[in-house]
Amino acid sequence: MILQVPTSQKTQLVDITRQVADAVARKGFTDGAVVVFAPHTTAAVTINEAADPAVPGDILLAINRMVEDDLPYRHGEGNSPAHVKSSLVGASEIVAVENGRLALGTWQGIFFCEFDGPRQRKVRLFFLPGT
Ligand code: ZN
Repeated sequence: MILQVPTSQKTQLVDITRQVADAVARKGFTDGAVVVFAPHTTAAVTINEAADPAVPGDILLAINRMVEDDLPYRHGEGNSPAHVKSSLVGASEIVAVENGRLALGTWQGIFFCEFDGPRQRKVRLFFLPGT
């Protein structure tokens, strides 16, 4: 299953928790895990606090500070910082599903991480049956 994730900023964390939960419900998937995978080299997926919108903002602030824009990068496309950020955060997360619901912690949400936007992005979901 593929989710469409439009982004509107150069770097941005987009809360996709609701989209993933809705997809799990549409699929009728009740127990196991869902893999949330970003098929991109300049984007990522992470789980963190979704209750306070300052948290994803702070994560982005720190990642953008950690990965400098003006290193002597060799990749000709000019978006090497986005590639580095993508690898640091990682392309996927696994979320347990219990009784048809995402078994996230109270404050957790699933974020699509845009590092070279704005673009129309995709997230692929893989459903792993289990108990
Ligand atoms: Zn590139």
